[in-house]
Amino acid sequence: MLGPEFEIIPWNVKDDAGLARVEAAITYGHPLLDGPLMDRMPKLKMISNHGVGVDHIDVAAAVARKIPVGNTPGCLDNSTADMTMALLLAAARNVVTGDRFAHSAEFTHYDPAFMIGQEVTGSVLGIIGLGRIGRQVAKRARAFDMRIMYFNRNRDAASEQTLGVEYMPFETVLSKSDFVTLNCPLTPETRGLMSHAQFDLMKPTGILINMARGPVVDPEALYAALSGGRIACAATDVTDPEPLPRDHKLLSLPNLIITPHLGSASNRTRHRMLEMTVANLRAGLRGEPLFWQVFKN
Ligand code: NAP
Repeated sequence: MLGPEFEIIPWNVKDDAGLARVEAAITYGHPLLDGPLMDRMPKLKMISNHGVGVDHIDVAAAVARKIPVGNTPGCLDNSTADMTMALLLAAARNVVTGDRFAHSAEFTHYDPAFMIGQEVTGSVLGIIGLGRIGRQVAKRARAFDMRIMYFNRNRDAASEQTLGVEYMPFETVLSKSDFVTLNCPLTPETRGLMSHAQFDLMKPTGILINMARGPVVDPEALYAALSGGRIACAATDVTDPEPLPRDHKLLSLPNLIITPHLGSASNRTRHRMLEMTVANLRAGLRGEPLFWQVFKN
C-alpha cells in the first residue's frame, strides 16, 4: 500500500539518525510514543496508529506540537466483539482445558460429571465500557438471552432503548454479573480499575474477560483472585506487561485463558485497518485533516 515514493525506516528509538528523517510514524504493536520521543523527530508531521487504542501515544503532547494522531475506529468492532464472545464462551465451557484434556492420554472415557461449565444462555453479563465494541458485544449477548448491565462514565440512553442494556453503578455491575467484560480504553482513570477490592465484589462463580488493555487489571490482584478461588476463571486477550515474562506466575494458573492480543485479528478487519492507517498517513503528509483523528487519550 506504500509505494516507492516512501522510504520505510524500521522503528528503532535508539537510531537518532533514522528518527531525524521520519516525517510520518506508523505505530502498531503499541510502542511508547511520548513528547521527548516526538522531539527527536523534528520532521514529524503526523502519527498514524494501526488500531483504535492510543494509550501508548501521548496525544496531548502530539496536539501541543501540532502533530495530528490518526487511528482506526469502527472497522474492528465486530471482530473484537466476536473475540470477546469467543473468550467468554471458552472460559464458561472449558474449551481450552477440555481441548488439552481431549488431546492427552488421560481421556479414556466419557464422564457426565466431568468439566461442568457455566451456562451462558440466560446468565448476566456486565460490560464495562459500552462504546463501539461494547455495543457489539451486547448485540451478540442478546442472542444468548443474557441480561446485560453496563457501566460507562456517561449513560447511553440510545443503547438502553435499542439493545435493552441496563445502566448500573460500577460496583453493582461487578456484584450482579456472572460474566464481566472489560471493553473500555486504558486511561489514567481505568489503569488498575480491577484490583483486589473489585474482585472481592464479584461472584465466586464470576468470570472476567479483558479485551481492553492489560493495565486495566492489576496483575497481582488477578493472580490472588484466581489462585484464591475468589472468582472462578478469567480470560484475557491482553496482559501487563505484554507479553508476560515466560516465568510469570499468571502463566501457571489453570483457570486463566490468555490469547496474544488477537481482538482485531481477522483477515477482513486487519485489511481494513491497514487501509485506514495508510489513508490517514497520506492525508497527514499532504497537510490535510485526517480521516480518523484522535484529539485526546
Ligand atoms: P469507544 O467507542 O471509545 O468506547 C469506550 C467506552 O469506554 C465508552 O463507552 C466510554 O464511555 C467507556 N469508558 C471510558 N472511560 C471509562 C471509565 N473510566 N470507566 C468506565 N467506562 C469508561 O472505544 P472502542 O472503539 O469501543 O475501543 C475500546 C478499547 O478497546 C480501545 O481503547 C482499546 O484499548 C481496546 N481494544 C482492544 C482490542 C484487542 O485486540 N484486545 C481491539 C480493539 C480495541 P464514557 O466515555 O461514557 O465513560
